[in-house]
Amino acid sequence: MYSLLDYKTEIFKYIYLFFLGSSLGSFYKTIYDRILYFFYSPIRKELSIKQKYYNLFFTPSFCYNCKTKISYLYLIPIVGYFFTKKRCKHCGIPLSIDFLLWELFGGFLLCYLFYFYGLLAFLYVLMIFHFIIAGLIDLKKFFLDYENILFLYIFGLILFFIEWELSNIYYFLLKFFIFLFIFLVLYLLGRGKKFGFGDIILIGAISIIFEITEILIIINLGAIGSIIYILLYKKNKHSYAPLGFFLSFACIVVIIFRPFFFGILTSNSSY
Ligand SMILES: [Zn+2]
Repeated sequence: MYSLLDYKTEIFKYIYLFFLGSSLGSFYKTIYDRILYFFYSPIRKELSIKQKYYNLFFTPSFCYNCKTKISYLYLIPIVGYFFTKKRCKHCGIPLSIDFLLWELFGGFLLCYLFYFYGLLAFLYVLMIFHFIIAGLIDLKKFFLDYENILFLYIFGLILFFIEWELSNIYYFLLKFFIFLFIFLVLYLLGRGKKFGFGDIILIGAISIIFEITEILIIINLGAIGSIIYILLYKKNKHSYAPLGFFLSFACIVVIIFRPFFFGILTSNSSY
């Protein structure tokens, strides 16, 4: 039985988690906008690699329209958007509501996943945001950002060392190389036209993070999404679909709905 005090601590814990999650949402929305701006917009040609990375992490937030520094108030998750009256103080352009949506999503996501996964939820939230960035950039630019996917490899390895015994290393390596091999063959068969090289990099990360059954579901969802996309938006079956976007989206769906369909795959679900 819970006492009133337990309820209070639980509520405070989840308020705190919501704040942390929304801060992560805000951070990743900033990173996403900046990747598009410094690495994929015309300004990329004026910057060296070093300047791009410096700007990505250290430039204070600015208005993309007038380049003026944005008020610190706006940077407070959730409420910041309303404090700034939803507009840039300098040029008056409406500030994107997307920030608020990313923050709300991050907040709810961390609370929800924490309930099922405990501390592992933090790792999953980070993964989900990297999948979101990978998917959205693929959808917009038809390109999977390698540096971003590298983080999914790192998180996947951390997950392996937390969740699995080292004796599972052969199974772990096997599933990694099988899916990498299948995608490499498909890439070569399509002569790089149907499959991008980025899709191979992405499937490597996916096969590190997920179980074999889940990987098969993800690939199927990705393929179905791509086919529907081509049927809706493209003229013929030779057209290209952003497979990376659909794979990333499928990964997020699997992480979020896993507690209901697969049970939690923790070897020691002690928290
Ligand atoms: Zn402005």
